[in-house]
Amino acid sequence: MAKIYPKVYFGNRIVEADEAHLSVASSAVLYGLSVYTVFPVSLDTSGKKFAFRLPEHFERLLNSAKIIGIDTFEPKWNYPKFKKAVQVLIDANIITNSIYVRVTVHVDAQIAGTKSRGLSTALSMFIYDAVPILNYEGVRLKTSVWRRIPDYAIPSRAKVNGAYVNSVLAKQDAIDSGYDDCIFLDVDGHVCELSAANIFIVRHGRIITPAATHDLLEGINRRSIIELAQAELGMEVIERSIDLTELYIADEVFATGTSTNIAPVLEIDARVIANGKIGPITKKLQKIHHDIRHGSHISADDWLTIL
Ligand code: PMP
Repeated sequence: MAKIYPKVYFGNRIVEADEAHLSVASSAVLYGLSVYTVFPVSLDTSGKKFAFRLPEHFERLLNSAKIIGIDTFEPKWNYPKFKKAVQVLIDANIITNSIYVRVTVHVDAQIAGTKSRGLSTALSMFIYDAVPILNYEGVRLKTSVWRRIPDYAIPSRAKVNGAYVNSVLAKQDAIDSGYDDCIFLDVDGHVCELSAANIFIVRHGRIITPAATHDLLEGINRRSIIELAQAELGMEVIERSIDLTELYIADEVFATGTSTNIAPVLEIDARVIANGKIGPITKKLQKIHHDIRHGSHISADDWLTIL
């Protein structure tokens, strides 16, 4: 397990990590009523620090709170205040390698019952080492016995903590069966995503990814890869329904996410994908994505916030 850095942002100030507590009676603890995001901060060779798509992460946090009906967060926060808090957190810690920052808006009201509006919230931010959860050389996936919670039950578009029990069930099922991660299907049997990453396939020279209406998180890397594949590789990217069997016969399959970067998928449900090696498109996108996040790809400088 990754170790968290000693200084944490909690309750509008920096505290020691073991002083950042939520009440056992808070809605965050009782119902998983919190929303969150995780973004990477990378260092270039001169030690300059960059956050990847910071405004988009803040916007998704606001949108998650809005969808869930947590209405005391947006009036108290805006992007400049958020960016300043990130800067304060970064400055309070000694950072010598790439890290992830996890930001959570917790509903900290106590014994509030099963509701969301008018309840107090606290924002926490902590740092941990950026160790990807999936191997960049390749992963093996298993179709989950658990289906993705549909948008009409708990919206996947909102990054809400309580909903991650669904991901835990599916990932553990995959690990128990000897795989690295799962593939979630929606209630109709179409492909959604992994436990914490979006999925893409390459077929007949085109890139295809499940449409955002298929009960998935609208990943910030998903959007970035769609834009990069079009702009940098001149490839057509299609967002549509994907059948499970299309994955089996794809030329390439890869997963994207903050904690994944880009992971080639080499095997699914005991079927080898193509020749079982990382494909050329995946490889190119891996390099572009890596270079952007580390500040060595000038054309995407506007995706980076210097800290
Ligand atoms: N799907 C789920 C369920 C996730 O938890 C994540 C990780 N945040 C992703 C997709 C990828 O999203 P992003 O690219 O914004 O990290």
